[in-house]
Amino acid sequence: MIPQDLHIHTIFSTGDGSIVPEQTLELIASVRHAEKIGISDHIENLYGPTFGDYAAAVRDCGFHLGAEIVQVQDVDYALSLPLEYRVFHCYDEDRCYKAAERMVDSGTPLIIAHPMALGTDMSRIPPEAIVEINNRYIWRNDWRSFYTPWSERFQFIFSSDAHQPNWLNQNVARFVGGQLGLRETLLFLENEDQSVA
Ligand SMILES: [Zn+2]
Ligand SMILES: [Zn+2]
Repeated sequence: MIPQDLHIHTIFSTGDGSIVPEQTLELIASVRHAEKIGISDHIENLYGPTFGDYAAAVRDCGFHLGAEIVQVQDVDYALSLPLEYRVFHCYDEDRCYKAAERMVDSGTPLIIAHPMALGTDMSRIPPEAIVEINNRYIWRNDWRSFYTPWSERFQFIFSSDAHQPNWLNQNVARFVGGQLGLRETLLFLENEDQSVA
């Protein structure tokens, strides 16, 4: 079993066309593909009373509570919520790097989502942020040249970014992590905080 997967979507990501109706919290709990599971549905689908329903359902499963912020205008809302971590689309725009700084300064772990797929300038990411190796996107570009210069600067995590039950794995992401010699940062562990990928 893999140790951690913190980037997973469920049917709460109602606006996402890749989500299938079977991608429920109950199914993810039954499959149990990772020891530590965190759910990170799209924040724009979690306004109003929906957030309370979402948070309760995620915690009922014993999962960690996160959210993915795709649009920078949702950062203020995300900062107002009792999330355990945030996953952020950091586009190559000044306002996105500033928002990343604000979220890091909040003290809650910030995961920079699939930067290679978004054209993120790695030199502008706060060094306290955790960079994601994302199973959904990592194979699409030249990951070796993109990540190698930064392998010592950042902490890294592996994620499935699962939108469907058969995406509940990190096979490609972990292959890439092994090739790059990356250390995996594990959040929410009681006794140790890091292990080797
Ligand atoms: Zn994303
Ligand atoms: Zn996602």
